[in-house]
Amino acid sequence: MPRTLVTGGAGFLGSHLCEYLLKKGHEVIAMDNLLTGTITNIEHLQCEQFKFIKHDVTEYIYVGGPIDYILHFASPASPMDYLQLPIQTLKVGALGTHKALGLAKEKKATFLLASTSEVYGDPLVHPQNEEYWGHVNPVGPRGVYDEAKRFAEALTMAYHRTHGVDTKIVRIFNTYGPRMRPNDGRAIPTFIPQALRGEPITVFGDGSQTRSFCFVDDLVEGIYRLLMSDVHDPVNIGNPTEMTIKELAEEVVRLTGSRSEIIYKPLPVDDPKIRQPDITRAKKLLGWEPKVSLQDGLKKTIDWFRTLPEFQKVTASEVMEE
Ligand code: UDP
Repeated sequence: MPRTLVTGGAGFLGSHLCEYLLKKGHEVIAMDNLLTGTITNIEHLQCEQFKFIKHDVTEYIYVGGPIDYILHFASPASPMDYLQLPIQTLKVGALGTHKALGLAKEKKATFLLASTSEVYGDPLVHPQNEEYWGHVNPVGPRGVYDEAKRFAEALTMAYHRTHGVDTKIVRIFNTYGPRMRPNDGRAIPTFIPQALRGEPITVFGDGSQTRSFCFVDDLVEGIYRLLMSDVHDPVNIGNPTEMTIKELAEEVVRLTGSRSEIIYKPLPVDDPKIRQPDITRAKKLLGWEPKVSLQDGLKKTIDWFRTLPEFQKVTASEVMEE
């Protein structure tokens, strides 16, 4: 039975990865300092093959016994989080990646870095392929995340080339699904609660900026294939179906059956204008492409949000008023 460490294991992506790895027969250790992650995300995973360790990976990481795989997913990842936690974001991307790579070298484990489409910044090439070096503002507010991940990629390649560590780098594009933290500042977990409460949907700028949203189950499948591959260069994993944020807001309103209106707020600094993954490499090298449509993925995500106590209360009080 392979033994696998997931840093950031109590986060949105980390918890989905833990669940998938357990299903694939791994023994899983989730490590998290619970800064943005939560125990609620992993409560349902309790079993003999699963262990949680509360630890900040910017400090020396100790895990007894063998480890076969390390998936390094610890980091604030929503723009609101990393704007509020700029130093923690830089530290986990830099010091945390160093500690996790050191552990991989010591345990002779395969290491997978969660990188991001943010390494392409506000891109001048469209769609973004892995050859593109990006257009990043190092001193802007998003620089703390973008540059930390760029450094993390450089460090990962250095451990591969210098110490022969078996490393992989996934560049993750916008992903959504159950267990996103409501109102974490990202578009989908902001729009869905707004629509369910009948509050205005807050679109930033004129809503003409584009993103391409991947359902979490597709992403996890792509990451697992990359983990099991012999590909060391970065690989984009994301859904190439591109849409404007205004279109996304309209789709959320339609699928929730909400009466919410759309209102416009100022565009955050350095908000990328366009984003779409070129997934040619993932298709060719991993035989992977996303399967879940935006409509199906959003429906599953909306259903999950409806199960949260705060939205059940909304429904109950509305019913009582009627
Ligand atoms: N966005 C928005 N309203 C919100 C939250 C986000 O219009 O309440 C926009 C945001 O400015 C960006 C897009 O939605 O253009 C996607 O934002 P998200 O934070 O989900 O991801 P990222 O900017 O990292 O791609």
